[in-house]
Amino acid sequence: MPGGAVMYHPKMDTIRQTDFNSTQRIGWVLALPKLALLLLLAALLSLLWLLHYNESAEEREALIKDVLWLEQNLRFHLNGNEEQLQQLAVDMSSLAEPRKLFNLRAAHMLKNNPEIAQILWFDARRNVIDALPTLTPPDSGLDAFGPPVTEKAFDIARRLGKRTYSEPFFLEGNGAQVEVLVPIFSERQMTGMLVALYPLDGLLGNLVPWWFAEKYRVIITDENDLLYASKSNIEGSGNQSYEIPFDPPGYGLKLQVVSYKTPGNALQRLLTAAIVVLAGGVFWSLWLVRDLMRKRSEAEEALRAEHAFRTAMEDSLTVGMRARDLTGKAIYVNNAFCQMTGFSSEELVGATPPMPYWAPEQIEESYNLLQTVLAGEAPPDGFEITFMRKNGERFQALVYEAKLIDGKGQHTGWMASILDITERKRVQELARQQQEQLQFTSRLVTMGEMASTLAHELNQPLAAIASYNTGCLNLLQRPGCQPQDIRPALEKISTQAQRAGKIIRRVHDFVRKSEPKRAPCQLADVVDDCLGFVEAAARKEGVRIECDIPPLPAIPADRLMLEQVILNLIRNGMEAMAGTSKADRLLRIAVSREAHELRISVSDQGCGIAPEMRDKLFTAFFTTKPEGMGIGLSICRSIVEFHRGQLWVEDNEDSTSGSGTRFVFTLSLEAT
Ligand code: ADP
Repeated sequence: MPGGAVMYHPKMDTIRQTDFNSTQRIGWVLALPKLALLLLLAALLSLLWLLHYNESAEEREALIKDVLWLEQNLRFHLNGNEEQLQQLAVDMSSLAEPRKLFNLRAAHMLKNNPEIAQILWFDARRNVIDALPTLTPPDSGLDAFGPPVTEKAFDIARRLGKRTYSEPFFLEGNGAQVEVLVPIFSERQMTGMLVALYPLDGLLGNLVPWWFAEKYRVIITDENDLLYASKSNIEGSGNQSYEIPFDPPGYGLKLQVVSYKTPGNALQRLLTAAIVVLAGGVFWSLWLVRDLMRKRSEAEEALRAEHAFRTAMEDSLTVGMRARDLTGKAIYVNNAFCQMTGFSSEELVGATPPMPYWAPEQIEESYNLLQTVLAGEAPPDGFEITFMRKNGERFQALVYEAKLIDGKGQHTGWMASILDITERKRVQELARQQQEQLQFTSRLVTMGEMASTLAHELNQPLAAIASYNTGCLNLLQRPGCQPQDIRPALEKISTQAQRAGKIIRRVHDFVRKSEPKRAPCQLADVVDDCLGFVEAAARKEGVRIECDIPPLPAIPADRLMLEQVILNLIRNGMEAMAGTSKADRLLRIAVSREAHELRISVSDQGCGIAPEMRDKLFTAFFTTKPEGMGIGLSICRSIVEFHRGQLWVEDNEDSTSGSGTRFVFTLSLEAT
């Protein structure tokens, strides 16, 4: 189990269930503020537009009222002046001393009506009789007969016989002017004409009140938008305007009034700007919130994916996982562990030692192991322990412990991965038993193969016993035979019987079925026993066997197994020398002592082994012999490895026949 482990809580499952709903809800939550904002903006703009519209409408209404009032005021004044001129004309025609009357009344009129620039009195032929103030000076643009436009107006007034206004005309240096002409009749005869001259600028300047000029710009234009006069106190562009015919004097003249933008508009603009800025601020903050929510939803999505991945990974695990806090309390178990023990995660999470899956007979050992784990001294290669399933069944578990590190890097407990190795153990045990069985079978086979030589070997002492026995009987039949005469023969019989018994014991020992057990044994004795088996065969084959065994300490080994290895190597060597010339048939057994091990070699001068064959030699059932089984060397290697040694093959470089093989194996001198 590598380094640390990060734990995921089972409660995370609820996230998965609400995935869809939550995404939908977030979509709605994100859409609502947008909608609300748009509606708010629309409402604000409508409100502003409505205010503006109402204000404009009110302004226009006020403008129209004011224009109508102005027009009425102007007309009132002009009419008043006309009436006074009319009255003067009537009085001048009826009373004596018209000149005096003219001077008096015209002066009075001019004084009271500053909008009138001059009042002139013409005779019927349009000659100026008198004028106030005085006659127009020569540089004024008016000749003694008045301006030419007057002539046209004069004619109209004479023909109509009633007061008439002239067309507007310009006087150099004095701007646009207009005249009102009132004919004087005496006994139905037109005897003269009274003319009042209005400079239009003066007309506006005197008749438009100051407060009106503060609010509006008043202009007199004609249909061609030719400007005749204007009055205003404020510079600036206009907002709304209204036109009304300026009649009298008529002739297409128009009175145009333009309203100025009021300062209230600036406040409104400020308010509008504030609303827009605030709406922008709201929109911006909503945008930020939306961005945050999007990031959050992305993070949640990533977490869900990660969680799903982890869950899938956990569910697919066959290895049990169990997390414990620093006190040993279980805080998490995975499915595999629950299935392994038969307990549900509800039964296990929160459980404190002794755990429900601890085998009662091993409670103490389990406590000790727990203390070792909590002290951080659990073996890194894991440890084996017996656990108990809920149904009471025991199972072997292999446990690896690792530190549990949380997101802040804090050590919060221990995470264990647990393997149920019961089956593995059973298989191992089965394999071991099979191996033992194979070794036993192999020994039986070896004995079977050696049966004829052993029988021959056994035959010798038995034949010797038989002949000694015959000799004894013959001696006993002789008269005077003394007991001491047969003693030597009986002693020889005993020796031969012991020899035969030894052979039988050896065979019996070799084929005995027993559990492998290591006990101190002398290698020289083992080799001796082996030689005892093969002596007869060696004699028969003409193989010389040399032994070089120095004095050695007893080694911890299974004697029977070692005997099987050495016997197998000797027999293989002898068989390999079948084709070697009799003189070179030498088998050498040598033992040397290294620092911690013994090195045993069996060298022959046989046919040798090709390099490409060497890898295959130790695989089971590899043989080059017609009746061989091919399991000898494979068993030899497993026995040597059981003794923590190694077995290998090399060329016999000391061979005098030119070829030969040396099998070497090591045996540890240290007991396990
Ligand atoms: P078996 O003797 O039944 O064939 P072994 O596993 O003992 O089975 O030997 C496997 C093969 O290894 C033999 O068939 C033989 O070809 C080869 N072999 C073993 N020992 C020697 C040796 N000393 N010299 C040459 N060949 C050998």
